[in-house]
Amino acid sequence: MGLTASSTGTKVLAEDVFEKTVGFNFTIGIAGNPNVGKSTVFNGITGMRQHTGNWTGKTVTNAIGNCKHKDKDFLFVDIPGTYSLMSNSEEEEIARNYICFGNADVIVVVVDATSLERNLNLVFQTMEITKNVIVCVNLLDEAKKKGIHIDLELLSKRLGVPVVGTCARKRKTLNNLLDVIYDVCVEKIEVSPITIKYSELIENSINLIVPSIKKLNIKNVHIHRWIALKLIDGDKSIINSLSEHLNIDLSKNLKLKAKIDEAKELLGNSNIDINKSRDIIVSSILHEAEDICGLVCKYNNPNYNERDRKLDKILTSRIFGFPIMIGFLGIIFWITIVGANYPSQFLANLFGIIQDKLYLLFGYIHSPTWVTGVLIDGMYQTLAWVVSVMLPPMAIFFPLFTFLEDLGYLPRIAFNLDKYFKKCCASGKQALSMCMGFGCNAAGIIGCRIINSPRERLIAIITNNFVPCNGRFPFLIIVSSMFIGGIGIGFKASLFSTLTVLFVIILGVVVTFVVSKILSKTVLKGMPSTLTLELPPYRKPQFGKILVRSIFDRTLFVLGRAISVAAPTGVVIWLLANIAINDISLLQYSANFFEPFAKLMGLDGYILTAFILGLPANEIVLPIILMSYLKMGSLIGMDDKMALREILIQNGWTILTAINIMIFILMHFPCATTLLTIKKETKSLKWTFVSFLVPTICGIVLCMITTGVWNVITNFV
Ligand code: GDP
Repeated sequence: MGLTASSTGTKVLAEDVFEKTVGFNFTIGIAGNPNVGKSTVFNGITGMRQHTGNWTGKTVTNAIGNCKHKDKDFLFVDIPGTYSLMSNSEEEEIARNYICFGNADVIVVVVDATSLERNLNLVFQTMEITKNVIVCVNLLDEAKKKGIHIDLELLSKRLGVPVVGTCARKRKTLNNLLDVIYDVCVEKIEVSPITIKYSELIENSINLIVPSIKKLNIKNVHIHRWIALKLIDGDKSIINSLSEHLNIDLSKNLKLKAKIDEAKELLGNSNIDINKSRDIIVSSILHEAEDICGLVCKYNNPNYNERDRKLDKILTSRIFGFPIMIGFLGIIFWITIVGANYPSQFLANLFGIIQDKLYLLFGYIHSPTWVTGVLIDGMYQTLAWVVSVMLPPMAIFFPLFTFLEDLGYLPRIAFNLDKYFKKCCASGKQALSMCMGFGCNAAGIIGCRIINSPRERLIAIITNNFVPCNGRFPFLIIVSSMFIGGIGIGFKASLFSTLTVLFVIILGVVVTFVVSKILSKTVLKGMPSTLTLELPPYRKPQFGKILVRSIFDRTLFVLGRAISVAAPTGVVIWLLANIAINDISLLQYSANFFEPFAKLMGLDGYILTAFILGLPANEIVLPIILMSYLKMGSLIGMDDKMALREILIQNGWTILTAINIMIFILMHFPCATTLLTIKKETKSLKWTFVSFLVPTICGIVLCMITTGVWNVITNFV
């Protein structure tokens, strides 16, 4: 079979997809409920690495990728997961607009074999919009384990569309799907989806409107009935979408308007208002799904969910939920802290050896001192520092975190935190965007799209920075292991460091609650929206995929970004530290300027300057601090953590400085990438500014408080 995959696709927003079909024979949309394996199917077919994970709401934009099968080129579009196409949320609207107006040749609806009945809702809704639908019954392996058997042939007959069974994690099983997609595209397979019949009254009102819709000359004739249904339903977004995508202005079509009124009157005469007609439509679909599942599904083990339910009872219990959560985090931090030491030292030694060779080389070619300074002391050393210090913790932390994600634990965290977010009038889904913030705050901000209420989404965006991203996380680990861990030795040292990092993370969560509450009682007033948080089944993580995903998609991506920022910043810092006016370097001018304010926060002028210069990326703040202390503006060898500690102590660092710096790492303005993302997501300079100010003010105030308290205590003692 001729499956060749290429990975030229990029992540794009919904609207862009409409423009990208040129050069392909066919376009295929992949739809489905959240967490049914759409992205796994998409990745398996296109060879791409779209984010997958065992929780709802990962894909919030359409992503595209391509593949050649037999003699045809296919463009695949991964649509955000939705339960329905009623356009109740942004994802639903993106999905609906793509299915309606994206001109896809085929829509593959991926369904979960272990909960077919619920998934059929989306299948029916899709079949109402477009004729060429293929149902991909995924997770067959899980269904088998749970004793569920599905008669795929009968299901296909009942739906009138091709049905293919897959286990998307096994790429081989996707070949069948590609064959069927090919056959439908080249019209080797005829597709004729069934039409769901609603009550007689609703059918009559549909028939009243359809003739007027036919006159609109919409290319997809299959969609007429569905548009009629939406107009009866009073769905305003479909009117906007028709005008936006097909240039059809319904408000000017008086005949159609009259027909809609007539249809509504017909229903009104029988006391059927919009809500009631919606109920009738939904329950007709549910009945059809129930009937079909009754025929095609056989359950050999009715207690198949028993194990998951037992686990959930423990992991989300009032008593054990929180301690287990903190325990998991603690273990992850501990492994990261202990494990990162050795590779960090190895890398630092390696870079040290290379550095000596570079000095020799530059000496050999008689390079001017300033060139050696800029390139080796500035650029190379900052790069070496960022790689040797950041890479090991990230390479350990991310796979562990991805493991929990794949297992299905993240939604359980959201579940545990839900009631606290509710108390703060915020959304429980905020816990999920917070978890994404652990990787990268910009990703966390985009992840906030899973929150439907704009008010709650803004709260989640403004507070996302209280979770340290991977740029700040290694910084926290280093400071805590140098100063707090330094109190003990051996196991005690790593235990103290772990507890400190854990404490800082918990502090971030507590501040998130407090700030969310303050925001929802002041500038973002409102009640929490109701939320049905889905607890997906526990799934056996795939270790190979976890490694690939966490190393390539997260670690190397972040490292690449850090390096691209660190190199030029290294040069700038070296110049700032070495260009002097009246014998005082520019760096020192800046440090002197900030010194009085920094002292109030228990920091110093160099530290504040470093945070400001580190705006492009948090990972370069510590290298800048160290460079500033070494007056020549270059780093010392990084192989000895204790030597670094000595330098910091010589420059006035105490436990208080370490505590305050950790607070300020957790709470200061977001990095430039995150700020740009906030601007993009909120489309507002005002909210971007608020997101800049809120964590910064919290950090400054908290540092001032700890300094004040510390001073009082030390004076007293
Ligand atoms: P999406 O939200 O629909 O895009 O779902 P993902 O593609 O992210 O998959 C959700 C989870 O299900 C991930 O942990 C996948 O590894 C897992 N998964 C996907 N397909 C299968 C399958 O056929 N069998 C099993 N056991 N797991 C699967």
